[in-house]
Order: sequence, then C-alpha cells, then structure tokens
Amino acid sequence: MGKKTVYVCSECGATFPTWSGRCASCGSWNTLTEEKKARKQTEKERYSFCDNSPVPIVKAEYRE
Ligand SMILES: [Zn+2]
Repeated sequence: MGKKTVYVCSECGATFPTWSGRCASCGSWNTLTEEKKARKQTEKERYSFCDNSPVPIVKAEYRE
C-alpha cells in the first residue's frame, strides 16, 4: 500500500531509507530504529477515498 519505512537514528535523529548498522550522519553504531511513516500516506488515502466516494453517493441521491 506504499507504506514507507524509514530508519531513524536515536542519537542524532537522522533518517535513512535503508537500515544500516552504523549511522552515516553521526557515526554511532546500532542506533537506527525502524519507523513506519504511515500517517501522511493514510491522510492522502483518506483524501483519495473522499474524492471517489461522493460521486456514486451523489448519483444515488439524484436517483431518489
Ligand atoms: Zn546518528
């Protein structure tokens, strides 16, 4: 569903698209923790649902 996983360094807060044993920003080892960025994409998915759902609803209301 397009959920992006980022890895955040607990030491410096740098984010990386791929996991690494060593933070490339501050050089600390084993500080990257997996963090899923799903909130923003969930909002976009909700917007897309809102864009699609009114169409059939309006058509149904016109019929009645
Ligand atoms: Zn770091």
